[in-house]
Amino acid sequence: MITFDIHIHTRRYSGCSFIDYEDIVGQAAAARLDGIAVTEHGMRWPDEEFGRLRKMAADRGIVVINGQEINTFNAANRSEGEFLVFGVHRSLTRACSATELIQTVHEEGGIVIAAHPYKLSRGGRSHYYGAGDLVYKLKLDGIELCHPDHSELAMKKVKKAMDELKIPGTGGSDAHKILNIGSCVTIFDNPVSDEVDFIKEIRAGRIRAEKR
Ligand SMILES: [Zn+2]
Ligand SMILES: [Zn+2]
Repeated sequence: MITFDIHIHTRRYSGCSFIDYEDIVGQAAAARLDGIAVTEHGMRWPDEEFGRLRKMAADRGIVVINGQEINTFNAANRSEGEFLVFGVHRSLTRACSATELIQTVHEEGGIVIAAHPYKLSRGGRSHYYGAGDLVYKLKLDGIELCHPDHSELAMKKVKKAMDELKIPGTGGSDAHKILNIGSCVTIFDNPVSDEVDFIKEIRAGRIRAEKR
């Protein structure tokens, strides 16, 4: 059983995070994770720098995946939710709709996971920081099930979407503070040693989510 926290922000590239990237490998090991993914807001770690992070992690037996978390907007400039993107080898900073984002990512061989789709915004009941019911109109590869800000009701809604859309649910801590790393995880049935395995296993749905 291979355990990953696939949703982590560091303050290297996410202004809102308190996590020093030098600390994430040690914390991942302490949380008994086999791997982690960095998913900074609106950008992907530059390859050379990420290579150093990956090496640092590999020395301790931890796999690191280079992802990103992208906000999307409709024509009226309202948010269509945030999405975790893996397998696209450039930063996807340009604002676009959720449908456009997914099309671009798929053309470039990557996968898209709806981040915290039913995390309530301060706006109240039917307003979300995520895609909400828009997930039913999208060609997603996965949907975040276990997230610290997902209530029981939110998880029920995600499970319904997983069933209807036949996509797997993931778990990620969305950590902005070091001790939160590993609070929600994605468990893989098969070994994952790099991005290729990571994407293949999620596409095949050979994963499950867990809150710890
Ligand atoms: Zn987010
Ligand atoms: Zn996030």
